[in-house]
Amino acid sequence: MTSLPPALQELAAALGRLPGIGRKTATRLAFFILNAPREEGEILARAIMKVKAEVKRCSRCFNFTESDPCHICSDERRNHKLICLVEDSQTILLIEKTNEYRGLYHVLGGVISPLDGIGPEALRIKELLGRLEGVEEVILALTPSTEGEATSIYLAKLLKPQGIRITRLARGIPLGSSLEFVDELTLGKALQSRSEMN
Ligand SMILES: [Zn+2]
Repeated sequence: MTSLPPALQELAAALGRLPGIGRKTATRLAFFILNAPREEGEILARAIMKVKAEVKRCSRCFNFTESDPCHICSDERRNHKLICLVEDSQTILLIEKTNEYRGLYHVLGGVISPLDGIGPEALRIKELLGRLEGVEEVILALTPSTEGEATSIYLAKLLKPQGIRITRLARGIPLGSSLEFVDELTLGKALQSRSEMN
């Protein structure tokens, strides 16, 4: 087997580090980029550089944004007494699509997972505690996995003594499924009929 030119190998290796991209797909994509007109490659490279340079995290909710605070945090028409806790920015996108939620968000940055060496201190819990003044309810919208459950329980214990109502998405979202794969209608309903955590 003849080996690929080093630059092509390098591109394939970089693409192979993307989630869901195996070695074969990475090689196929690398060849596609190589075969495409020069401008196509430049558009892709520029888009990557631009997103890394211009998109930051909101200093309040840690959602990705080009302005700080983000358009959600700075929207006075939204309910600032309500915070929905999510693992990542993608979940915000999903919840916004349901049109069922008018509060604020807080991006936790993951869930507690001892097996992966992720403890509470690795998440944005301190930052959450720092913005609870005037907040009446925190909705826990974490992945319904074992780790998501454990994290929800940990947070409920931490937040309840502060006199804040802690709710979670209604059951109906299949256990273990990523919120990413839940349709808008189901997610919207789960938000509407959220339940109090004891
Ligand atoms: Zn924000």
